[in-house]
Amino acid sequence: MTLFRLPAKALYGAPLLLVLLLLASSCGQQAQRDAEAAQQTLTEAPAPEPELQYGLPVDSFRLLAGAVQRNEFLADILLPHGVDYAAIDRIARDRDIFDVRRMRAGQPYALMLGADSSARHFVYEENKVDYVVWTFAGGDSVQVERGSKPVEIVQRQVAGVIEGSMYQTLIDAGAPALLANRLADIYAWSIDFYRIQAGDRFRVLYTEKLVDGESVGIDSIQAASFRFRGMEFLAFHYDQDSLGSYYDENGHSLQKAFLQAPLNYTRISSRFSRRRFHPVQKRYKAHLGTDYAAPTGTPIRSTGDGVVVAAGYTRGNGNYVKIRHNSVYTTQYLHMSRFASGMRSGKAVRQGEVIGYVGATGLATGPHLCYRFWKNGEQVDPFQEELPPAFPISEEHKAAYQQRIEQLKKRLEAIPYPEAQTAEPQLAAMGG
Ligand SMILES: [Zn+2]
Repeated sequence: MTLFRLPAKALYGAPLLLVLLLLASSCGQQAQRDAEAAQQTLTEAPAPEPELQYGLPVDSFRLLAGAVQRNEFLADILLPHGVDYAAIDRIARDRDIFDVRRMRAGQPYALMLGADSSARHFVYEENKVDYVVWTFAGGDSVQVERGSKPVEIVQRQVAGVIEGSMYQTLIDAGAPALLANRLADIYAWSIDFYRIQAGDRFRVLYTEKLVDGESVGIDSIQAASFRFRGMEFLAFHYDQDSLGSYYDENGHSLQKAFLQAPLNYTRISSRFSRRRFHPVQKRYKAHLGTDYAAPTGTPIRSTGDGVVVAAGYTRGNGNYVKIRHNSVYTTQYLHMSRFASGMRSGKAVRQGEVIGYVGATGLATGPHLCYRFWKNGEQVDPFQEELPPAFPISEEHKAAYQQRIEQLKKRLEAIPYPEAQTAEPQLAAMGG
């Protein structure tokens, strides 16, 4: 280490020592060692600049930090610190910027007290990034504004060899467990995450969001390789005409598009809604599907390749078919007048294959198809889902894409697998 690497803050903090160090550094090896020893003391010197917290010069106040307790009201927090009822009432009534009824127990807050021990600022942390600051300017005058902490994006990499679950493997490797969900989405059409086995392995290049040095989530996955049952699956993120998606090493999309609709329909009679008036049951309930009005007998097609997991009858659904496309997506088709021949659990179907015919069986006022769509076990509106594009890298992007993935491939291959777990997949599988 040389003197030039001393942080500027530390230099300003101790000008006299600095002069001594500069003198010492020109006097041989012993002096060098002294300088290094002194440098350690130097770097620990207090910073002269005001420290900002929530955008406020925190060292001009006395800072009290806590967390909202169960059944604790705003008045409980503020009254003991010189904020009067009139000001508290204003905060509670002014809901434009933040509605204090949304304060939750367990969330951190801070009070910044002036020389007279009364609160100058009250800060409530809505989540790990966003906060609200109330500033007391005397009397019942209160200003309120929102702020957010600086989010730092850091580059990360992880490699793992599956022993138990994907989650546990990620945790053991020091990566966020939620990376598993992101990988499941990327590889939805190529890897069945319910069938991964001991010895399967992966490498991932990703970025993580940090606030105050603490992780607040995954930013994005740039590239991944996954060895699943002896086959290698590569995934590279690429923005093509401002649409980001994942592609393999040949520029083919890892996603397959669903058909826009499972039938030729006359109109959409009801859209996906968390709350709608049910025409048969005469009450408000969620309608977690899309209703397509169409004449009885209209062919219904599977919107994607998959396997039939149910073909049967219930009082509500009537005749219905449920198809699992992969570990992420499942679709269901209700109120059929009849099934296509051979429709039973376990049958493989292709995208566009006829699986049944429109009817009004079950709870239905007239002939229509109710189409339901699951993503990761939760019913969602396929029209609201950002289903990535399924087209390949275009000719004009090909050169840039190849250049980019060459670099990413090298970086992926350089990520070491955890020691002690580098046994070949076959051996690991035999042992387990
Ligand atoms: Zn419906």
